[in-house]
Amino acid sequence: MRHFFVLSLALNVSFILRSVFEREQGLNWFGFESEKERITQRTRLSVSSSHSSITTLAEAQDSGERIINLDHGDPTMYEKYWQQMGDKTTVVIPGWQSMSYFSDISNICWFLEPEFAKQVVRLHKVVGNAVTDGRHIVVGTGSSQLYLAALFALSPSDASEPISVVSQAPYYSSYPSMTDCLKSGLYKWAGEAHNFSKEGPYIELVTSPNNPDGTARHSVVNRNKGTLLHDLAYYWPQYTPISSPADHELMLFTVSKSTGHAGMRIGWAIVKDKEVAKRMTKFVELNTIGVSKDSQIRAAKVLKAISDTYEHVDDSEVGETFFDFSYHNMAERWKLLREAVEHSGMFSLPKFPPAFCTFFNQVSEPRPAFAWLKCEKDIEDCETFLRGHKILTRGGKHFGVGPKYVRISMIDRDENFIRFVKRLSTIRI
Ligand code: PMP
Repeated sequence: MRHFFVLSLALNVSFILRSVFEREQGLNWFGFESEKERITQRTRLSVSSSHSSITTLAEAQDSGERIINLDHGDPTMYEKYWQQMGDKTTVVIPGWQSMSYFSDISNICWFLEPEFAKQVVRLHKVVGNAVTDGRHIVVGTGSSQLYLAALFALSPSDASEPISVVSQAPYYSSYPSMTDCLKSGLYKWAGEAHNFSKEGPYIELVTSPNNPDGTARHSVVNRNKGTLLHDLAYYWPQYTPISSPADHELMLFTVSKSTGHAGMRIGWAIVKDKEVAKRMTKFVELNTIGVSKDSQIRAAKVLKAISDTYEHVDDSEVGETFFDFSYHNMAERWKLLREAVEHSGMFSLPKFPPAFCTFFNQVSEPRPAFAWLKCEKDIEDCETFLRGHKILTRGGKHFGVGPKYVRISMIDRDENFIRFVKRLSTIRI
């Protein structure tokens, strides 16, 4: 039996290594793998154990030819976990179901599926990362839609000029373009919060942990006519120690970064003020007349699967719990990245202070979903420099800072991430 196990392990590892490092032709023009390539790979990866395979992969060679695209924060790292869960989150929807526009007409957010709302509240209680009692939940097509709904709801409707929207740099690169895309008469992007000196009302975006640099954030403008919008997409235990349940006026969350289901396009807002919740609901109504019920049902199932494993509702074999899996993967990746950076000597990374996490009941360091990498020596444009090594990243100017910095996704598939650290470690001037 033992010999058989060793043999099967060796075969699996060699399959993975072959599929990872000999498959240089499987990219489409975007730099993404073709679907066929991915399915083949998925079948192979599903037989490996979770994070330990990362270290094994790290020992393999990289020819340096293949394009490594870590520009987007595409959360494909999580596919492996959900594959291991098998049919636990499979959803079958009969053709006659979910046909009505309406979900619960007694709720302010009338298109919110009750089961989804229930599982959102339950997961926040399990994790302890947000207060939900006495709050309104508004569902959106991703938290992106809710970001716009929040701007709509928080802007005065009778003002003579658009309200200023600010955020401390480096800020999430989509905020400026999303804010100004329709040249709204209600709100206007006003850039770096520290430079904001205009009198009067403003909206400050607080992203914590922050995209791109992973830091814990608080508001910085602190004037009395400000309204805060908290984007807590990354306030989950795999990325940062949970210090206490967040309790802000308006908080945005998304499955994209919590469970990794970006393609489901589901986000939710937790809102204290009833009128704000009403206006956000109105925005989604005007925009898309609600949010896909199919997606809400699927999201409910995914959130439920996570909570069930922590509350031991499901007696069947649980396997690795979701946040354990993702915590260990992120920790392993950050370790490998820091080693690569040290080995190269060309780059630096932020240091994060350890803190107590109430969810894991231990002190740990943050493990952000993005690495905020700085090119040292006399490299002025880090994005261009890395592109020269066929590594695609997003440069600092997109985030309101200089070109010496780049943002790199830490949540891509194992093979892409490993190829990246391998290549980074060998870069010299
Ligand atoms: N806010 C932040 C800070 C993000 O990083 C992202 C995703 N990159 C979003 C919002 C948008 O998330 P969603 O996929 O739910 O629209």
